[in-house]
Amino acid sequence: MEKNILERSLEGVTSVLLLGHIHPDGDCVGTCLALYNYLAEQEPQLAVTLYLDNPAGKFSYLRYFDRIRTEAEPEMRFDLCITMDSSDRERLGRFEPCFAAAGRTLCIDHHRTNRGFAEKNYILPEASSCSEVLYGLLDEEKISRATAECLYTGIIHDTGVFKFSSTSRRTMEIAGRLMERGLDCARIIDDSFYRKTYVQNQLLGRALLESVLFMDGRCVFSAIRQKDLDFYGAGSNDLDGIIDQLRITEGVECAVFIYELAPDEFKVSLRSNEYLDVSRIAAYFGGGGHIHAAGCTMQGTVHDVLNNLSLHIEAQIRAHDGACEAGAADAGQKGPGQA
Ligand code: 5GP
Ligand code: MN
Repeated sequence: MEKNILERSLEGVTSVLLLGHIHPDGDCVGTCLALYNYLAEQEPQLAVTLYLDNPAGKFSYLRYFDRIRTEAEPEMRFDLCITMDSSDRERLGRFEPCFAAAGRTLCIDHHRTNRGFAEKNYILPEASSCSEVLYGLLDEEKISRATAECLYTGIIHDTGVFKFSSTSRRTMEIAGRLMERGLDCARIIDDSFYRKTYVQNQLLGRALLESVLFMDGRCVFSAIRQKDLDFYGAGSNDLDGIIDQLRITEGVECAVFIYELAPDEFKVSLRSNEYLDVSRIAAYFGGGGHIHAAGCTMQGTVHDVLNNLSLHIEAQIRAHDGACEAGAADAGQKGPGQA
């Protein structure tokens, strides 16, 4: 059988570096550890290294989580660097020089804004998660329980436990096959996705309490500042899930959540429910993502950030309303029963 892009990239290689994106989410940690576990079992002659930017401790149930390195060794040179779930080179953060210095590069991803920044690129924008993309590159027979646990974690995190529109029949079929490895799915879902510390719940409550509606209730916005994080002794890993709760506010098409990275610098999360393409807005501000979930980093005060974003959100909402009105007028002219 013909070799796939991953198998071809591994030919003649002795050292491999695996990278994800800054502030790695469940899909990023899950996919990277899945490939780490798979290679450790199937290609034991390879020296595999995984660098990730401060992965959240809630993922420590995944095998080899303890082998993740959070600081690069600048003198190291790798034959091959594989990036996963990272939609552009900047998202590699402080590990970007390791990517630049590698002999060969391969990018495995599912972001529609990814233009293919590596030598070889395998990007499936329709896939629910990077774990789903990686699954397609692995030999199914050789996926162990430990690797399956990593892939399953990636899938549940990027699909919001199988509820986002990116969840396809294939996603469910893959999840089903992974379950057959004997995973404790309920525990994985509760422990890594739903469980919150007391502080995380406090921050969620605060973000919801202080959220504001705009565009006649079609958008919702909330912000967390550095001083709030300091007050609770919390970090950015404690803010997961806030944007998802904002998104399901009744009547809302678009949710915006921002948190302060540095004075006058904010990390922006955008979500939409139906017609808004938030990846376009994030890409305009130098970020990226998917149609219904995207992000970027923006400069300025909270008000500057909201004002700049809302111009783009409003423009898309108006364009959508205009198209709906034109459609209704057309239908009216033709009259019922006419094609
Ligand atoms: P989140 O809001 O959960 O941080 O990110 C939502 C989606 O947008 C994820 O798929 C994430 O990879 C992508 N994303 C978030 N921030 C950025 C960014 O600054 N740049 C790019 N290219 N993608 C981002
Ligand atoms: Mn992802």
